[in-house]
Amino acid sequence: MPCSPRPRPAATALAAAAALALLVTITGARAQQPPAHTANAPQPARFDGYQVVRVVNRSPDDLLRMMRAGAEVWDCHGVGIGPSRYLVSPDAQARLKAAGVQAQVLIRDVQALIDRERDQVAQARELRGPGYFSTYRTYAEISAFIDSLVATYPAMASRVSAGPSLQGRDIFGIRITGPGGPPAGAKPQVLLNSLQHAREWITGATSMWIANQLLASYATDSRVRRLADQYEWIIIPVVNPDGYVYTWSTNRLWRKNRRDNGNGTTGVDTNRNWGYQWGGEGASALGSDETYRGAGPFSEPETQAMRDFILANPRIVIAVDIHSYSQLILSPWSYTAAPCPDASIFDILNAGFEAAVESVHGMNYTAGPTYTTIYPASGAAGDWTYGAAGALGWGMELRDTGQNGFTLPADQIVPTSEETWAGLAWVADWLLDNPPLLITFPRGVPASVAAAAQNTIVFSVQRAFLRPAPGTAALFWRVGRSGPFQQAAVSSQADGSLAAAVTAGPCNSVLQFYVEAQSTTGQVVRFPSAGPAAPLEAVALQSPVVFADGFETAGAWTVGSPQDNATSGQWVRGTPIGTAAQPAAAHSGAACSFTGQGSPGGALGEADVDNGQTTLTSPLINLAGAPDAAFSYWRWYSNNAGAAPGADTFVVDVSADGGASWTRAETVGPAGPGTTGGWIQASWRLSALSPPVTPTSQMKVRFIASDLGAGSIIEAAVDDFEVRSFGCPLPPCPGDWNRDGAVVPADVAEFISAWVADLQNGTLVTDVNGDLAVTPADVALFVNAWNASLSGACGG
Ligand SMILES: [Zn+2]
Repeated sequence: MPCSPRPRPAATALAAAAALALLVTITGARAQQPPAHTANAPQPARFDGYQVVRVVNRSPDDLLRMMRAGAEVWDCHGVGIGPSRYLVSPDAQARLKAAGVQAQVLIRDVQALIDRERDQVAQARELRGPGYFSTYRTYAEISAFIDSLVATYPAMASRVSAGPSLQGRDIFGIRITGPGGPPAGAKPQVLLNSLQHAREWITGATSMWIANQLLASYATDSRVRRLADQYEWIIIPVVNPDGYVYTWSTNRLWRKNRRDNGNGTTGVDTNRNWGYQWGGEGASALGSDETYRGAGPFSEPETQAMRDFILANPRIVIAVDIHSYSQLILSPWSYTAAPCPDASIFDILNAGFEAAVESVHGMNYTAGPTYTTIYPASGAAGDWTYGAAGALGWGMELRDTGQNGFTLPADQIVPTSEETWAGLAWVADWLLDNPPLLITFPRGVPASVAAAAQNTIVFSVQRAFLRPAPGTAALFWRVGRSGPFQQAAVSSQADGSLAAAVTAGPCNSVLQFYVEAQSTTGQVVRFPSAGPAAPLEAVALQSPVVFADGFETAGAWTVGSPQDNATSGQWVRGTPIGTAAQPAAAHSGAACSFTGQGSPGGALGEADVDNGQTTLTSPLINLAGAPDAAFSYWRWYSNNAGAAPGADTFVVDVSADGGASWTRAETVGPAGPGTTGGWIQASWRLSALSPPVTPTSQMKVRFIASDLGAGSIIEAAVDDFEVRSFGCPLPPCPGDWNRDGAVVPADVAEFISAWVADLQNGTLVTDVNGDLAVTPADVALFVNAWNASLSGACGG
């Protein structure tokens, strides 16, 4: 059978039983296969009149319809709900047309592209001394090129083998590293592999271009030299040799390996055969399918060989499985929509990877987790290299976006390789240039803490180059800028972050802290990197409650504004009667403020916000003299019920001039968290708004719920509103230079040290008289203040 096997939509979309039943029903309507040839020598399959079309599948039914029409999966990563590309025979084109399917033609004649490529390959060989990268190369030519690289650069390159394919062909590769950097045997390794999918010819060309780049540019390009010295690169260009040879001899569009599945079908999709979450979504149990997962995890010699090779090279930190086409950079997970445990580092690396690729030739790539960026795919290489082997694993889809598909013109080999190398080099550089563990503060680095009270600082330690050793993450803190640090008690949070308990000193004193963790290799990493020598710092402030309202009694809140135009669902105060969209109880106590009271057993849309907005505004809140203030409240918001879900927003504004002008504090919706009901606490600081708001005596807050989408059900509620001022009741003690809450001789000593440092460094830390110069006058002013403090309210 010369043509690719019949496709089946991703398993997500279909119950397996339904798919099996369907397969039986459609066998009579198979797409026209390319005509068989009777000559003795096998003739290549032909695809005359075949088109590649783009179709947007909106439902499982759409996927079934495409399958019934005999459209075959085109694309490396399969098809699913969303834009999908198919190879369609002339007969299938007629069936799609009859079924009224909207299809955009990407390639008018697939055979013409195959012919063009075949001519180019032949022509390039006729030219005298054509460059290796001027055209596509056979399995034997790639093998010979590796031998020639090893012969030319024997000190840096050696040939490796992962093992034999199903038909006994060698899955060869090249190992490259420079003479500099860490000792041999200690270098982190980068694994690049390609041509798991046989028809994706550009990938084998690109991985060999990168091998050549590392060797040929080593002497002249300092960046290449650094990356070749610091890492050991392992490049396995043809993971699926049997399939690749078959694409040259018989069927240019063959994807899978050459396994005889024993039921008249051929080929396992090796990129659904890896043994991490094997057999889940986005892989098929049917041997005829392009995404056939095989008889079991690692059932295929090709994936077994790669698995064993990777396990035998435990220093692999970056593993990129290169595919084409679609211009994608795909991180874990493929098998689930859930974020992977190291999503933070992948977010950083994906963004830089993408930007670096795009910067070379301006091609547009998309980066993100596989499942949420394209479709589910279980048993893919990237999930195993990350989930089981512990490497930062990616799948990459090279050029183009469908104009040429798998038959990418050979004159794009070099530019595709250049941009791919740029992306990989950026990732490899970033990992060298940044701390080997990623230490972050998910709620931000606190600029202030509550004075004379226990505070919680949330931090997180995640893998970057190295992996954190369990139980080694610690936060050290002290009050003031001198003295020993102590280790905080740390507890784990549900999201994997850590909460450290610290006790702040008196108002206006500083709290210094840093985080420390160890890698599994024993390396200590601190944030900030200098640890105790240059720690982070927060100011201890008092935070008395200056305004609080639980809406239990009628307060001074007002309903309505000149812009209000809702025809129902205006704000009321009381005990809500619940619906699917409205709370059935206040957050605490008996009452809250909410949008529109319905009747017991009333309809979902009864008394929700309709046809405009409704505004709830606080009375004046006096924050005069406070350096900052924190607002918090519990809110309820639902916009996902009814005919137009996710169309509206709920906004909160703050005013410092009694309501004459407003600054947006938060916007809930139109989609995302907080839009499906439920009481959620929100809080924000005036200083953290954009732009920051300075506290005054004329503060107000307003809540606006609106219904702008026709047919949407909008319900909002607010309860337990509270405002805390942030500051100290007394001005800071001018003599407490080190801010430890006491005026003592150490303050003078530290001031003098800082003053000398200013003179040496040209800095202005001790310019206490504000004349933009560091002079003896500053010392005199400080010492006078220190003397005065000793006898004053904050004296030592
Ligand atoms: Zn592929």
